[in-house]
Amino acid sequence: MQIVQYPHPALRYAAKPVREVTDEIRDIARQMIELMLGAGGIGLAANQVGLPIQLFVLNAENEAAQQIGQSVFINPQITERKGIIEEEEGCLSLPGLYAKLKRAAKIQLTALDQNGNPFQLTAEGLVSRAIQHEVDHLHGILFIDKLSPLVKLGIIGQVKEFERKYRQSQLAGEIPSDPEIRRQLSEQQAVHT
Ligand code: ZN
Repeated sequence: MQIVQYPHPALRYAAKPVREVTDEIRDIARQMIELMLGAGGIGLAANQVGLPIQLFVLNAENEAAQQIGQSVFINPQITERKGIIEEEEGCLSLPGLYAKLKRAAKIQLTALDQNGNPFQLTAEGLVSRAIQHEVDHLHGILFIDKLSPLVKLGIIGQVKEFERKYRQSQLAGEIPSDPEIRRQLSEQQAVHT
């Protein structure tokens, strides 16, 4: 398992709900937590490791996340959004790129935990932002999609550079072709959803 970088097709794949929370799903979550911690991230969505299933993890060592007491989120749904706040954001699939963007200040969410038990929580601040970012991933949405036109203009060069490097790796045979990746993604989806 590894974190894929933009513009890997998994990042544009709509994740499907997990059918059943099995030992295999728990193992995927555990590996994702290790990867996220290794990369110094606040959160990681399954799309980012090439698995189009509705699962994301949050860094529970983070002080803000400790308050909510959950680090594994399966089939999450944001049920309420309140207020707007603009803060800087980044993504492990676009390392080194940061930009300001508006998100709901406070959210309410329902999800399943790693034992398959449903829970509900209210979050604000960094955790609220991280959850919204990860839920977007599960819908194939990236934070760079949501920037204001002016902010977008400022980072377009960096985004193009990610695209250039990715295509270069594909040409060098280090990454499979997009059609091949899409085939693998639908296979993975069929196994878990
Ligand atoms: Zn991200």
